[in-house]
Amino acid sequence: MENKKASWGDAFRLNWRAARIWFSQYPNMFYSAAADYGLKTILPYVTIWFSAQIIDEFTGNRDPQRLLKLVVLTLIVTTVMALLQAAAHRWFVSQRYTRNGRANKMYADKLLDMDYSVMDRQETYDLLTRVRNSGSWGAWGLVNINGSFEMLMEAVPGILGAVVLSVSMFTAKVPTHGNWLDHLGNPLVVLGVAVLLVALTALSAHLTNHANHIMSIQDRNFALGNRTFNFFGWTIISDRSRALDFRAYRQDKICADYLAGNDGYSWNSISGKKARGVCGIMWGTARVVDKLFIGVIYGYVCLKAWAGAFGIGSVTQYIAAITALSRSVSLLLELLGRLRNNVSYLETTFEFFDLPHEMYQGSLTTEKRSDRQYQVEFRDVSFKYPGSDQWALRHVNMKFEVGRRLAVVGQNGSGKTTFIKLLCRLYDPTEGQILLNGIDIRKYNYQDYLAIFSVVFQDFQLLAFPLGQNVAAAKDYDPVRAEDCLRKAGFGDRLDSLPDGLETCLYREFDQKGVEISGGEAQKIAIARALYPDAPFIILDEPTAALDPIAEAEIYSKFDEIAGDKTAIYISHRLSSCRFCDDILVFDQGRVIQQGSHEELVADESGKYHALWHAQAQYYTKG
Ligand code: ADP
Repeated sequence: MENKKASWGDAFRLNWRAARIWFSQYPNMFYSAAADYGLKTILPYVTIWFSAQIIDEFTGNRDPQRLLKLVVLTLIVTTVMALLQAAAHRWFVSQRYTRNGRANKMYADKLLDMDYSVMDRQETYDLLTRVRNSGSWGAWGLVNINGSFEMLMEAVPGILGAVVLSVSMFTAKVPTHGNWLDHLGNPLVVLGVAVLLVALTALSAHLTNHANHIMSIQDRNFALGNRTFNFFGWTIISDRSRALDFRAYRQDKICADYLAGNDGYSWNSISGKKARGVCGIMWGTARVVDKLFIGVIYGYVCLKAWAGAFGIGSVTQYIAAITALSRSVSLLLELLGRLRNNVSYLETTFEFFDLPHEMYQGSLTTEKRSDRQYQVEFRDVSFKYPGSDQWALRHVNMKFEVGRRLAVVGQNGSGKTTFIKLLCRLYDPTEGQILLNGIDIRKYNYQDYLAIFSVVFQDFQLLAFPLGQNVAAAKDYDPVRAEDCLRKAGFGDRLDSLPDGLETCLYREFDQKGVEISGGEAQKIAIARALYPDAPFIILDEPTAALDPIAEAEIYSKFDEIAGDKTAIYISHRLSSCRFCDDILVFDQGRVIQQGSHEELVADESGKYHALWHAQAQYYTKG
């Protein structure tokens, strides 16, 4: 755990980079904060200045005309400023509420932009969890920038306003009395007082910063505790799909045990003890030093007024201005400390944002062939998952033509899904080449290439939005096409029974009238969704796993209609689903050990397919 303080260079570089990211996407967050904090800071000085003028008039000339003018002017100026500030504050608050959501959006954008192979790693998720936790628990990292900018917008106008209002206090001439009061105007005394005030301000800010630094390190040390709490204390309790297991096995007990040693913020935790001990002492001392500062100011200003350097109105002005000056300078010093404390969190954040694209991005467009003449070839392809030394695929050679039905079979772990992931370029082969119409798929524009595939993954996800939107994966959809795809996928009868047809909401999260659907129905919708874009390839990963035998038979019998003129690839470990495919690839331990039609393969009595078929046949013969 790096507990040492970061360099100033890093502090400015990283915070500046974070600020630029925010500003480029959400400039209004900065404008609104500048308007709100700027006005809020300047307003008291304006009031102080007018009050001093009024009091001086009271204790001086007492001219009713001028007094009236001053009072009216004070009212008008301060009212207009207060109204402007109130408006700016509303604007600022509306921006501030969106801060965490916007940060999450930036993380999500990065995740979506990443190569799938990078996103799919545990380290990537660990990094993201650390980034998000430091933001949500300690407001460190990216979201820290907004608070820092607000401090800057408070400190800088604060210092400028206070200097303007207080500089004449130091320069005011003291009339000669012939006693010790004359020394008050001595430049050395003035300098001494100024230095003392600066020293007290710096001491207070240093104590506060140091205590804050110690606490910020605690925050980092409890990253694990935060994650544990987040996951056990919330995620798994609120996850509906875990609810049954959670109750049946009372998983809260094991969660509670894990949480027990990880109480990062309770009274008896390390940070609790630090807050009561060393940090508490530093924070307390800093407040005492602040009061000393006020004492020095009162003493010096009152003595100077006593000696006749200025009137009573100016006393209130100077005391208020210099107290505010100290607050603004402390704020600025606190801000500097904060920028430095944020460094380690920003390093983690940028480690995440800088995760590189590892895949070669080609530029060729895939030909949009009206005849859909595509040919795919795996040429001696081998693949290891990143960080693994096992071959998931080894020397895979195969070819297939468009319009055909290809089945990929094999036992669990034999490499079927990996084969599909490589075909869809979620990963690139470790060795060998995959060719589309004779050209290495890496040379095609990535998005173009992806667009020729529609995949129904085994763990597909539907959203709690209207059915039609789910099928189109878009808010606006073509109802005729969506309905056609649903009917092809075997969802027609159910569609006819839905109260609002395509506009019926799935699930009830967003709509009380939403419908709950079974696993099999969901799978049909997922198949319809894959048909909607009319991509030339359709890939179904265990498409019938959640279906009952009747629904399964229905899908098979309609399979030709479903796939139409598309090339269809089926992954299955149920051999019954492969019979009607033109070509069957048999995987075993990462290798393609057989390829051919059902009849050919089942006839080869020494082959794996024959053995698997007969092992499973008992389930099918009855049907
Ligand atoms: P199948 O789809 O036939 O069940 P997979 O293609 O999923 O098989 O898996 C092939 C091999 O690759 C297995 O040994 C599996 O453990 C391994 N594997 C799968 N996914 C990963 C991954 N993300 N990281 C490391 N190894 C993996």
